[in-house]
Amino acid sequence: MADLDVIIQRLGMRGHRITGTRRRVLEVLVSMPAHFTADDVLHELPDVGRATVFRTMKLLQDLNVVCRVLMEDGSLHYRISARGHHHHLVCRECGRIEDFSNCDVSSLMDQLKRSTEYEIEGHWLEVYGRCSSCRILEGVSV
Ligand SMILES: [Zn+2]
Ligand SMILES: [Zn+2]
Ligand SMILES: [Zn+2]
Repeated sequence: MADLDVIIQRLGMRGHRITGTRRRVLEVLVSMPAHFTADDVLHELPDVGRATVFRTMKLLQDLNVVCRVLMEDGSLHYRISARGHHHHLVCRECGRIEDFSNCDVSSLMDQLKRSTEYEIEGHWLEVYGRCSSCRILEGVSV
């Protein structure tokens, strides 16, 4: 339950009250596998409104407790994370996800900002491929 305590502490530090419902959503989140969908969460909380679950998930994203992963099939998954800004390496065979935080796009962002005069507020980068385990398995079956 260490994860849960850390998350609750973080919410408290940012001045967010832990209501009974929020706590229940959090308990479900930390019991989930490495990545999960919003439907998985809703399924575990049939008596909690969809809007409440989504609002709580959004708050947790803003606090860098939960991150979103765009799977290759277009579905959006969630993942417990405390890393701050980072990206994902997604294996399209087994669905394994690894985080990486050395995103080297700042020069691209500067260039975009200059050429388009946009105020850049964020970016999203996911990388898809096959993990080493899946590549080894494929080698064996050939
Ligand atoms: Zn992540
Ligand atoms: Zn894999
Ligand atoms: Zn980045």
